[in-house]
Amino acid sequence: MSGSPAPRPGLSLVIPVYNERENLAPLHSELMAVMKSVPGAYEMLFVDDGSTDGSAEVLRQMRAADPQVRVLTFARNAGQSAAMDAGFKGARGDVVVTLDADLQNDPADIPRLVEALAGWDAVVGVRRKRQDNLVRRVSSRVANYVRNRLSDETITDTGCSLKAFRRAALSRLVLYDGMHRFLPTLLKMEGFRVREIPVGHRPRRHGDSKYGIGNRLLPSFMDLLAVRWMKRRKLRYEVKDDI
Ligand code: UDP
Ligand code: MG
Repeated sequence: MSGSPAPRPGLSLVIPVYNERENLAPLHSELMAVMKSVPGAYEMLFVDDGSTDGSAEVLRQMRAADPQVRVLTFARNAGQSAAMDAGFKGARGDVVVTLDADLQNDPADIPRLVEALAGWDAVVGVRRKRQDNLVRRVSSRVANYVRNRLSDETITDTGCSLKAFRRAALSRLVLYDGMHRFLPTLLKMEGFRVREIPVGHRPRRHGDSKYGIGNRLLPSFMDLLAVRWMKRRKLRYEVKDDI
């Protein structure tokens, strides 16, 4: 690379990527177009979670053509929570926006999401018209209901990856595998303010979903029990005197 370093971006888009080759170029173009209406410098931080389908090569080309693109590449697949954690730690913006690489989240929602962050620590998208099949829509609804009941929570759609955060809030979290589904709860536990706004949703046109009932239901239920335990066992005390 040559020339002076780019100015520190105010906003980082963090995008986990696992075998999303055909989605990456259209996503990049859509994001570039949308980010014109968001004031300030930004970066697109793609985290390649050990893709084996040629995504790495596409990301390399995007990186070469666009200085706003950064790419972190994992040696092997480590899971969506790990990819997001690496993205959060690598992000340079004070504001972090997360979205999936599969074009299911609509980049056009980003300006509204960022505006909605004013006075809050996190904004969580709620997918208004889910473009997934019936089995996924129903299982997600049931999962959200059970999650909210068991963890005494009120998050409508934690599975929506389109979210905006203050990076300072994220840096307070210690993540474990599976915890990307519980970011709003983990932030609230630290006293941060989290709000929800409606966002769009689109069908997946290329590549496959990485989750099905089989690899999501049981693991995320176990994770829910862990979060429930953490929430109950959170240390709560008030020092009355220190003499
Ligand atoms: N993903 C990842 N690592 C994984 C699984 C998924 O980085 O081990 C990424 C994936 O490429 C996508 C996002 O996480 O950008 C969400 O995955 P997916 O679209 O398969 O989930 P769904 O929308 O079906 O719930
Ligand atoms: Mg998806």
